[in-house]
Amino acid sequence: MILQTENLEQSFPVSGGRRVQVLNGVSISVNAGETLGVVGESGSGKTTLGRAVMRLSEPTGGRVFFEGRDVTHANSAHLRRILRRRAAMVFQNPSTSLNPFLKLVDALTEPLAVHRIGSRSERRQQAYDMLERVGLDRAQAERYPQELSGGQRQRVGVARALMLNPALVVADEPTASLDVSVQAQVVNLFQDLQRDLGLAYLFISHDLALVSHLSHRIAVMYLGRVVEIGPAAEVFDRPKHPYTVVLSSMRRPAGEQLTPGGDPPSLLSPPTGCAFHPRCPIARPVCSTTAPELTALAETKGHEVACHFPGDLELSGGLETAVAP
Ligand code: SF4
Repeated sequence: MILQTENLEQSFPVSGGRRVQVLNGVSISVNAGETLGVVGESGSGKTTLGRAVMRLSEPTGGRVFFEGRDVTHANSAHLRRILRRRAAMVFQNPSTSLNPFLKLVDALTEPLAVHRIGSRSERRQQAYDMLERVGLDRAQAERYPQELSGGQRQRVGVARALMLNPALVVADEPTASLDVSVQAQVVNLFQDLQRDLGLAYLFISHDLALVSHLSHRIAVMYLGRVVEIGPAAEVFDRPKHPYTVVLSSMRRPAGEQLTPGGDPPSLLSPPTGCAFHPRCPIARPVCSTTAPELTALAETKGHEVACHFPGDLELSGGLETAVAP
């Protein structure tokens, strides 16, 4: 196993001496060569999860294991040695993640130089090879990020992430800022690289259809918790949590898509019981008082749902009338 989190918690201070709980007991795992897609709307905690496992923020509870070692509270030198060399991150906006004053060859060789890997000429050769691996011409190496298209910049972002030969790539909405046609190219690039290099991905997106296309398993997050997790085909085609049912409807034509009732609740005052109950069309009294635990479904191995009435929404047909726009 490459990555595992156990009851991961992340809270941040806000005004008035209060704290906002952004991650609330998140337990996930990613195996070698596997893609775990993480899906949720804004405020679900999916980006915070990516940053926490990369230790870009300090978790306030729970644990993070990387290749079997507990890196939750590792000191910075330890982190550099383990995490920075074996895990890398691709960000949503390549324009802001690449230094505009560095030529591509310098941006790509920088991680190698930091870790004192190879001679200058060897590092440059690796940069040229990596550019070609992500589908760019080595002649691009002397250009600056702002001279490239958005899709080319994201390819460079991927190339830079791969320079230290990581086992895991955390990709946070890597196609969200790209045109639809370019999105498909970048998704294909991720798949090709996984096949060729055996990479594992934690692939974060708001788009369940996109994630289901390239993930082996999917975790659906809502208000800081995983509410459904399982094999991608099961979660996408046979969702059991009402929130996932709504997300999976996004593949339908525009007029047939569903939206959950109301706006997402504030993280500052989360609902009692099941956090989805104010928006759920099949909520019952127990839902507002008792938070459902993530529970394995008997019928499908590895499929877990946090709902008191998993699957009832599809059976009742209530979603169509209750929350269709
Ligand atoms: Fe809806 Fe209740 Fe399930 Fe929450 S526990 S998703 S409110 S049915």
